[in-house]
Amino acid sequence: MERIVLRGGVLFDGLGGEGAGGDVLIAGERIAEIGRFTAPEDARVIDCAGLAVAPGFIDAHSHSDLQVLEDRREKTVQGVTTEVVGNCGFSAYPAGDDLKPLRDFANGIFCGDEAWGWRSAGEYLRAAAGSPAVNVASLVGHGSLRIAVAGNRLGRLNEREVERMEGLLDEALAGGACGFSTGLMYAPGSSAPLDELERLCRVTARRGKTYATHMRSYFSGLVDAVEEQIELARRAGCRLQISHLQAVGANNWPLQERALEKIEEARGEGIDIAFDCYPYVAGSTVLTQALPQWVLEGGIDGLLKRLADPAERARIERETEAALEWRWSDIYISAVGSARNQGAVGKNLAELSEARGRAPVEAMTDLLAEERGAVNMLCFNQSEENLRRTLAHPLSNIISDGFYVRGRPHPRLHGTFPLLLGEFCRKRGWLRLGEAINKITDRPARRFGIRERGRLAPGYFADVTVFDPAAVDSPATYDSPEQPPTGIRYVLRNGRPQRG
Ligand SMILES: [Zn+2]
Repeated sequence: MERIVLRGGVLFDGLGGEGAGGDVLIAGERIAEIGRFTAPEDARVIDCAGLAVAPGFIDAHSHSDLQVLEDRREKTVQGVTTEVVGNCGFSAYPAGDDLKPLRDFANGIFCGDEAWGWRSAGEYLRAAAGSPAVNVASLVGHGSLRIAVAGNRLGRLNEREVERMEGLLDEALAGGACGFSTGLMYAPGSSAPLDELERLCRVTARRGKTYATHMRSYFSGLVDAVEEQIELARRAGCRLQISHLQAVGANNWPLQERALEKIEEARGEGIDIAFDCYPYVAGSTVLTQALPQWVLEGGIDGLLKRLADPAERARIERETEAALEWRWSDIYISAVGSARNQGAVGKNLAELSEARGRAPVEAMTDLLAEERGAVNMLCFNQSEENLRRTLAHPLSNIISDGFYVRGRPHPRLHGTFPLLLGEFCRKRGWLRLGEAINKITDRPARRFGIRERGRLAPGYFADVTVFDPAAVDSPATYDSPEQPPTGIRYVLRNGRPQRG
């Protein structure tokens, strides 16, 4: 068995306290000893003087469902050793015989093509266990479940279909999925009545797993959306994780405080509730998110048919404008598929409108029609002050929410964890280092039931990230996101040093 000693670093155990000097002995894939001990003579020694030694980081909210299967390094170079995928209602299973609806639904988030899909959680997790880069945990996506039983149909499903969803969810949780996720702003999940969600949350509670939710609104409906999720957790008795909590749109920024109060009150009442957030004021998703979701009845084909009908298109544009709580100048095009529209990447919709001589909403529907619905966006959402409150809040863990695009990805894909430790701990002092490390190690491990990871403790898996606290940071920007971080020195996963 190979033995490695990490010598003379400042050890952070993941529980939130400040670091203390010491050594770590790794034997095979586990941590054997911590602190002061006599190192075995045959051990390989890695000098960690002046460096912080922490548990490997856990990215508890990622959309790399397909890329974790590839030999990619974007997360490893940030110190990430485990990812939780299957978020916001999108999972790569359960797939039925016809794979097209599931791919149409998730490809914009997965950066996928026409060749993926697993029948079950077990099948997917077996493939993911072979990941060359990270350990993978997965939630079952509500949208994916719904598509498996009813395709892209919206609205209330019949009793047999709901029973089938309950059965598929139960089977996935029994097969190793760590919880259930909803994406209540994305069709078809957005059309589900509350009693359907309650039944699925009950299945999740019975299995003792986690329910994570991209809620119905992060805009003016934020507080109602938080209340709805709390009510669900209260009725179903499940552990609740609110995904990427924030108030989107300048008019809505004051609502965040109320949302946090609701969460704290629910916690006080005994509901097992917490939330996660990413360390950026901008978010990113698919451009169809700015449309009323009924236009996605029937999936992408349904969308294209409606956009091709002038009367339908006018109605879509009217409703989009009436409901929009971003400014057009806050929404940037981050990826398109066609060669001829590459010039749109990096432009916001006000700029695109000017360039095309069309109203912003028309520039948007034109682009969606030209790209067959496949457009990604980056959107400036929230205030620095609100970001500080969520990052530093005792109930938050910190995530990337990152995903790949064929264009210009959000910099969080390349920089989340080093940015947290450098910019927000060292430079701005928003969090203590031990606290920040807790929010990306032990805390997410417990929220998502990831066992024997997330701590530096004997018997735990030897997922370890060694970094220079004086140098750790991310230079990735919105304009130039694909830049590797600085200051991450060594990453070990299951006892094995990872290449950067
Ligand atoms: Zn989401």
